[in-house]
Amino acid sequence: MANSYKETMNLPQTDFAMRGNLPANEPKRLEKWAEEDIYHRVLEKNKDGKPFVLHDGPPYANGPIHIGHAFNKILKDFVVKSHAQRGYFTPYIPGWDCHGQPIEHMVEKTLGPEKMAATSQPELRKLCRDWATKYVNVQRDGFKRLGVNAEWDKPYLTYLPDFESGNVEIFKEMYLKGSVYRGRKPIHWCKRCHTALAEAEIEYGDEVSPSIFVRFKMDLMPGVFEAAGAEGDAYVLIWTTTPWTLPANTAVSLAPEADYVMVVADGVNMIMARELVEQVAEVAGWEGYRLVANAQGEPVTLKGKQMCGLTYTCPVRQDLKGTIIYGDHVTLDTGTGCVHTAPGHGQDDYLVGIEFDVPLLMPVDDNGCFTDEAGRFAGLDVDAANPVIIEWLREQGTLVAKQEINHSYPHCWRCHEPVIFRATDQWFVSMDKNSLREDALRAISSEVTWIPEWAKNRIGSMVADRPDWCISRQRSWGVPIPVFKCAKCGETVATAETFDAVIELFRTEGADAWFTREPREYLPKNTKCARCGGTELVPEKDILDVWWESGVTHTSVCKHRAAEGLTFPADMYLEGSDQHRGWFQSSLLTSMGAYGVPPYKSVMHCGFTVDEQGRKMSKSLGNGIDPAAVCDKYGADVLRLWVASVDYSQDVSISDGILKQVSDAYRRFRNTFRFLLGNLNDYDDAAMTAVAWDDLEPIDQYMMAKTAALLAEVEASYETYKFNNVYRLTYDFVNDLSAVYMDVTKDRLYSEAPASVRRRAVQTVLMNILEVLVRVLSPILSFTCDEVWEHFPPAVRTRADRACSVQLAGWPKRADFAPALPGEAACAEILGTWEQVLSVREVVTKALEDARTAKAINKSQEAVVRVSVPPSTLAQLEQFDAAVYEELFIVAGVAFEASEDAEEASARVEPASGEKCPRCWNFRELGGNAAHPDVCARCGDALDAIGYSASAE
Ligand SMILES: [Zn+2]
Ligand SMILES: [Zn+2]
Ligand SMILES: [Zn+2]
Repeated sequence: MANSYKETMNLPQTDFAMRGNLPANEPKRLEKWAEEDIYHRVLEKNKDGKPFVLHDGPPYANGPIHIGHAFNKILKDFVVKSHAQRGYFTPYIPGWDCHGQPIEHMVEKTLGPEKMAATSQPELRKLCRDWATKYVNVQRDGFKRLGVNAEWDKPYLTYLPDFESGNVEIFKEMYLKGSVYRGRKPIHWCKRCHTALAEAEIEYGDEVSPSIFVRFKMDLMPGVFEAAGAEGDAYVLIWTTTPWTLPANTAVSLAPEADYVMVVADGVNMIMARELVEQVAEVAGWEGYRLVANAQGEPVTLKGKQMCGLTYTCPVRQDLKGTIIYGDHVTLDTGTGCVHTAPGHGQDDYLVGIEFDVPLLMPVDDNGCFTDEAGRFAGLDVDAANPVIIEWLREQGTLVAKQEINHSYPHCWRCHEPVIFRATDQWFVSMDKNSLREDALRAISSEVTWIPEWAKNRIGSMVADRPDWCISRQRSWGVPIPVFKCAKCGETVATAETFDAVIELFRTEGADAWFTREPREYLPKNTKCARCGGTELVPEKDILDVWWESGVTHTSVCKHRAAEGLTFPADMYLEGSDQHRGWFQSSLLTSMGAYGVPPYKSVMHCGFTVDEQGRKMSKSLGNGIDPAAVCDKYGADVLRLWVASVDYSQDVSISDGILKQVSDAYRRFRNTFRFLLGNLNDYDDAAMTAVAWDDLEPIDQYMMAKTAALLAEVEASYETYKFNNVYRLTYDFVNDLSAVYMDVTKDRLYSEAPASVRRRAVQTVLMNILEVLVRVLSPILSFTCDEVWEHFPPAVRTRADRACSVQLAGWPKRADFAPALPGEAACAEILGTWEQVLSVREVVTKALEDARTAKAINKSQEAVVRVSVPPSTLAQLEQFDAAVYEELFIVAGVAFEASEDAEEASARVEPASGEKCPRCWNFRELGGNAAHPDVCARCGDALDAIGYSASAE
């Protein structure tokens, strides 16, 4: 008999599957989106909205996407979709960085040296373009699979003609202002890759180097030491870790304010910093050394500054004289306080060399071999030079000591070999000539919003300290430096007119034309050298640094594609934190240099992806996570949920274990949606609009207020890009929903008559929750929310004004809640009251659990609870009927009593005296009504309402 009642219950019904089977279903949904053209439809819907342009930074088109790419693109998708959902107009043009040495390197490797030698520059460029195109396609497919909305069919590519011309526009502006110059300066040089490297192309790694102490013979014994009785030759004792730079030595730098003394050891007089004497004595193994002292026995000292101008014989080039100078770069933490200075081989050396007008020698060629300028070492490879030079110094008797040290040394980002610092003729952007540094720093500190805020200091200190930007590279695959050289006198020819001609050339034919066309074919007829009047012009051979190219996307994309709704400056740039050194900076410098304004209003950075132990992902560690494999195993929505769950401003951990946890969380969200949809199957618009606020039970009103509060908090979190708050708020909400509201209202949903006000009230609340959750989660769980949208109750799904996709549904509004919410203050009061009520529920739940464990009861429905609370709490609780608490605690009866000495609530559980209703399993008085005497009164009514008759069975 009891079983037959099962059919009279309103059990959940939905074809929204319990298991998402995302790996199989997401690709189908992608096809649907492509068919619907969802990207453009969202734009169309928001076309009159305020624009919000997230400008995509270009990944390098070389290899498939990795988890770091996926992390970044998904974050961008959150930003774009959460804005679009809120009504902003959000064009998002993805892009790729296609030029540059890594691709050229791969093509070179594939060709092999023989074929490479037989390949012309235009042919090589074509092969590079093919390579880049292949990986643009691979990466695009990878990004699409993640559910990212973008203008995928019209991305920007740095090798497209229109893009290439943008480089020249910026170069023109900056060149004509005098910010670009050609100079001989030490730069990082990779002799294997044969090119200059920018700071952003350098990685630091440990390297063992020789550390040697060498004495240079001075021309004179300084008078103060002579007066104190020093006799014979005087030497200055230097220290260096790069013996191979000694052939370029032209100076020794001292610390200006430090005290220098003369050490006499093994019969030799050597000048060095007083503070370092003991340290050096230990390394050199001096026994019985002494300092030259005055009559009182005090060591004679000279300030570094006071020795400026003294001369010595250069250590390798003994035909040259070196000079003693000073500079603040000299420190006394190690060495001798006397720094070997080769202006051609170091940044500090270069600057101090200019200050004291010391000659710059550059005895190393492009291949890293010594030239004739290196004297006896000419022809030697610098890699092999250290031991040879050290041995030679030993033979000369000037090597005082030698050790090995392990220190951080710059390496090439491409071939990972140590690089050298070497002066060459290069093109530079001056940081200071036109106050570019100052302007950029001002923009960083007061014109751009940094997310997180502390990133401001990071990029700020980088810009404050950076040297001039070396923008030339000696490679083929890139955009040429758009200037000409006079064949007759070597003068650079570059004017507004020549630049304009090149802009037009690149725009129409692409930069390839630079290598295939003669300048006279495209330059204005009267173009000639300003110095000698020569008309034969040779195009510059160097190409632009790729960081320059990606740096000008603000022009080549944001400005050139304004017709598609892009704006300059963009609202946001969002990349990995390493881009403070790279793209954020090159974009800022080119924009400030050309236009005097930053290219972005805000910059957000994300950390690196690391494994569970915080280690970088690498092939050798085998800890890499492939985004495609994650999509095949868990689905893109699980990966997206992971992105939402982390604090993206820091390095973020991902592993299979972490993904398993996230997929459990995903199931929570999915089950919640399933519960909502299942219980709304017979949702009927007309019936619902009849439910008024006062028809809602107190707990229903509470859930309405709580949902409105969630909406407000989620909105604020999206506004401040705190996606992990969105995750936490919604995750807590669905957990709470299942632990309390879903649990409590099952009785009303399943057992009441389908159209009863009490049941419709719950359904109304559930519909409000569903409408909010599906919309606010759709930027994150894009696939799943779209699926939920399709499974809405038929009465809703078929409405004429219904958006065909949740992405077109718009942001939920407080005003859309039905029935309408009371004011904010009233809602806040409801939430406050319920905080108290729910804390009592926790106590009761615990007591019921204990009673079940002790086998005093089987189910909570069989229990009566007596709850003691402090009198003040009782007053609060008494505003609701006992029935509210019976439902809330899921028990047969509740009695409250005030207890003067209770500080908090306590509960006692007793078995109920009634009988179990065979239909709803509650303990009630049975004998419901005449037609249904075996059930409780409520069930009797419900059975009447649906016209159920036991005899008909
Ligand atoms: Zn290299
Ligand atoms: Zn000339
Ligand atoms: Zn019943």
